[in-house]
Amino acid sequence: MSDVARCPKCSRYFDNSFAVSFCPKCGASIDGTHLLNETFASSKVKASAGEIAQIDSHLALSLLSIIFCFPFSIVAIVFSILTINDKRRGNYSAAISHSALAKKIMIASFIIGGILFGLNFLGRFSR
Ligand SMILES: [Zn+2]
Repeated sequence: MSDVARCPKCSRYFDNSFAVSFCPKCGASIDGTHLLNETFASSKVKASAGEIAQIDSHLALSLLSIIFCFPFSIVAIVFSILTINDKRRGNYSAAISHSALAKKIMIASFIIGGILFGLNFLGRFSR
């Protein structure tokens, strides 16, 4: 379950499913007790078009990650497309959650792809 929290300094919303210690928007350090948490499923977050436009779908990097780790990158691309659809519908909290998931999976696919590539390289080298 993803949590959307609101920064007490810049009052913008961000994904807080892993309890961040600073605001990803303005960099202000965050005291968990002052956070206004809203569960992703129930929240109807109001956001401006500008704030919605700022959400990164990570589509380009997700597409690039196909080269590194095919199965993971497909999942990342799915979440990127979900983010784009959420942005189009103006669903800010869903877009933020899907964007964060796309980013995590995309990074994981780069790391796993890098490890597999490294192992493959070592395997060839030691033969
Ligand atoms: Zn902030």
